[in-house]
Amino acid sequence: MASIFTKIVNGEIPSYKIAETEDYYAFLDINPLAAGHTLCIPKKEVDYIFDLDDDTLAGLHLFAKKVAKALETCLPCKRVGVLVIGTEVPHAHIHLIPFQHEAQMAITSIKASISKERMAEIAQQVSTQYETMNT
Ligand code: AMP
Repeated sequence: MASIFTKIVNGEIPSYKIAETEDYYAFLDINPLAAGHTLCIPKKEVDYIFDLDDDTLAGLHLFAKKVAKALETCLPCKRVGVLVIGTEVPHAHIHLIPFQHEAQMAITSIKASISKERMAEIAQQVSTQYETMNT
């Protein structure tokens, strides 16, 4: 069965899209640790990130770098932190978290409360920035 993230890539489930290439897709985490918390995924559905072939794994990190640069331009943050967990959704992904306080990097910490309107606004702003920086 297709993962929830494959359904997002295929447009069967909505997402706050940030960026897309032929092989990768980035969208806001629906339960964010901080404003702009983004997930970067390969379109190829593989559960465990370290089971990705070398080219796909390297490409995922380079894609995440571009997304992180757009995030840090748009959102006030100390840095964009990186997390890989992958125990909830069996489709490899990198969490990008524009944190202001290190505590926001703990996956078990209290989630940020962000309205749907603000999520849509962030997605629009960051995706525009991504396009500007990469075209
Ligand atoms: P993990 O597999 O532990 O790295 O966590 C999976 C992440 O996916 C969690 O942070 C969830 O909030 C996020 N998530 C699950 N379903 C969706 C969805 N439909 N849209 C956006 N993010 C999601």
